[in-house]
This record gives sequence, C-alpha cells and structure tokens, in this order.
Amino acid sequence: MNLRPAIFFDRDGVVNVSPPRELRYLRRWEEFHFIEGMIEVLAEVKAKGYPMILITNQQGVGKGLMSLDALQEVHRAMQAALGDNGASFDGIYAATGLTGEDVRRKPSPRMLEEAAREHGIDLSRSWMIGDHDNDMRAGAAAGTGTIRVQGLKEISVASDFRVADVPALRRLLLELL
Ligand SMILES: [Mg+2]
Repeated sequence: MNLRPAIFFDRDGVVNVSPPRELRYLRRWEEFHFIEGMIEVLAEVKAKGYPMILITNQQGVGKGLMSLDALQEVHRAMQAALGDNGASFDGIYAATGLTGEDVRRKPSPRMLEEAAREHGIDLSRSWMIGDHDNDMRAGAAAGTGTIRVQGLKEISVASDFRVADVPALRRLLLELL
C-alpha cells in the first residue's frame, strides 16, 4: 500500500475553544465553538488532499461526567458543520478512559498509530498539531513532526514549530504542505 502523510489535530484548544474551567468537558453541541478561522484552515488542508485525523483525550466519559453517546453526538454535529464547508475529519480517535488506566490516552502515540494502520498513513511525513505538552509528546513518540499552537497551557516540551494563533498556523501549513 502507498502510505500517505496526514495531519493530526488535537480538539480542544485547536479546533474548538477549550471548555471553560467550570465546565471542564464539552457535553453538548451547544457548548462547542470553533476557534475563529479554523474551519478555513481545515478546508485548506483537506483541499490539498491530506487525510485529517482528530486525536482527542476525553476522560470526562471515564469519569462518568458525560456519556459516550453524548461525546459521539458532539462529534457527529461537528462533522456535519465541517462537512458543509468541505472540512470534515477523515477519522476521529478519542481516548475516553482515565489517566493512568487508558493506554490510548495522549501522551501515548497509540491513537496516531491506530489511525496510521486504518488510513494508510506514513507517520514520518505527518504532523501533529496541538496546544498541550502531551500532544507534542504523542506526536514525537509516533514519529510525526510537531506543531504547537500556543495557548494558555504551560510549555515544557519542545516542538518542531510553535505558532501564536490561527493565522500563523495557516501560514505555516501553507509553507509545509
Ligand atoms: Mg488541547
């Protein structure tokens, strides 16, 4: 099989605005807000022919704060909204278990490796985009390049690139892809 490079995206803080502290997890579509400009970025990546894979830790399910159905409903609605803009994800991988129990959770590279098997992806030519140290760790462990979207999270892990906002991410991707 001819393996292709792909772009992996973290969800909260990259695709959508991270849930506020008091909410902690997005349980309903009404609470999901795309980060301004991100739908356009996703549409551009897709138009260039790269598979786009969402890689998200959602232990709110494992904690019993939301059901798996509710998580999947949010993702269905997200995909519908993205699909209207030619920007839907080709795969969605969510680790719903608890820290210390769920071996698929980032910083583990497992979800990226699953996606690589299921979508015929060459990890060494792929990129992981995230706003957390664990996104960078997961990408590096999987062998992808790493792009850090600077948010409010403390940075203690190196990445190949760091961007301050969505316009900067867009410019970088136009260069790289
Ligand atoms: Mg995040």
